[in-house]
Order: sequence, then C-alpha cells, then structure tokens
Amino acid sequence: MIAGRLHWRPPKAKLAGRQSLAAFDFPSGSLVLTEAGTKHRASLYVLTGEQGLRSVDPGGIDIFTSDLSSFREALTAENRTLKRALTDPRLVSGIGNAYSDEILHAAQLSPITLTHKLEPHEWERLFAATRHTLEFWTDRLRSETESGFPEMVTAFRKDMAVHGRYGEPCLRCGEKIQRIRYADNETNYCARCQTGEKVLADRSLSRLLRSDCNRISEMYGPPLRPEM
Ligand SMILES: [Zn+2]
Repeated sequence: MIAGRLHWRPPKAKLAGRQSLAAFDFPSGSLVLTEAGTKHRASLYVLTGEQGLRSVDPGGIDIFTSDLSSFREALTAENRTLKRALTDPRLVSGIGNAYSDEILHAAQLSPITLTHKLEPHEWERLFAATRHTLEFWTDRLRSETESGFPEMVTAFRKDMAVHGRYGEPCLRCGEKIQRIRYADNETNYCARCQTGEKVLADRSLSRLLRSDCNRISEMYGPPLRPEM
C-alpha cells in the first residue's frame, strides 16, 4: 500500500528494471506489480477459497455496512488515540494515514484524543465524517479514472484538506497546518480546528500514533517469494 503499484501494460510485458517484481499475463494485456523505493516490502500470497481469504483479513469493520454503535464499539475495544484506532485494520477496514488525517479534520477532532474520552455528539461527528470522507474520495477517484486504469496512485492529493499540507493554510480557517512526525510518516492537523489551538509536540507523541503495520504483516505469516 505504501510503495506497491499495479500497472496495466501491453500483452507479454517484460519485467524491466529492479522495480518490476511480477507480471500477470492476460490475452489483452499484462498486469505488472512494481515497488518504488528500496525497502523491499512487497510480497505475494497465494490463497485458496474463502477460508484462505479470511486468513489474511485483519477483521476490521466495513464502515459502509456498519452503524454508529458498531463503529463506536470497534474503536473503543481498546483505549487508543483516534489516529491509531482509525488506522488499525483490526478495528476498521481500509483507512490509512492520509484518509485518517482528512477524517479527523472533517470531524474537527484531535488525532490524540483517546477513544474512551469521546462524547456522544463527537462519536456522531466522527462517524459521519468517516463515511462522508471515504465516500467523497471514492467517488472522486473513480470519476478521475473513468474507464482507464488508475495509474496516478498516491496518498497526496492536491485537494486534500490537511494531509500533505504542512505549513499551508487550512481550507476551513486559514491557520497553518501542523504536523507530528514519526518513523517514516507524519500526521497533519489544524490546531485551530482540531486541538483548541494547541500545537502538539512531535517527539512525545510519535509513540502514541505509530502505525500497526508491522504487527499486521506478522499476522499474515511469511510471504511467498518466487524464484526470480
Ligand atoms: Zn483550520
């Protein structure tokens, strides 16, 4: 999800360069998997049947088939920061760093608020903002792609409200967007809209917000590495 991309190429595409990892040949073209960067985190799994699929499902709820109470139940299973809870695929499916920033800005909630501290009206706001943000971007990206293959896959979209906009003015209030940096990622937020004007300290918070990616990939077991 970070550096992996799929490309649609003419039939029998050659694997050119170190970034090309695999090609799946179809009569009308080749689906090529690439990994940009040097981290070598790409992996392929071969699964059989629905049971096989379930073995790699972290179990998070689907926001579009859930209601407010199951959403709240999932996110309060543990007392976590909103940022970590939203991006944990064991709790909610399909929300990463970029869209959790957008959701929290839309809901006007702080990324470090603990899920056990949220008031009923804030749960309503968070649930509505989560659905609205994902719906908006799903529709938007679908219409941009139209009938073509989605080649411009990125977590940084120029119309995003906060994500990737450190130092730029907030679209709602004009205040400069802030950031909390950790490992190889950052969280963006607006202090005026989300944290009661409080600028959150970088270092002390990084532990609270760290993603759970590593633990999740451990759950999947060792990847299948074909001889190449
Ligand atoms: Zn703002």
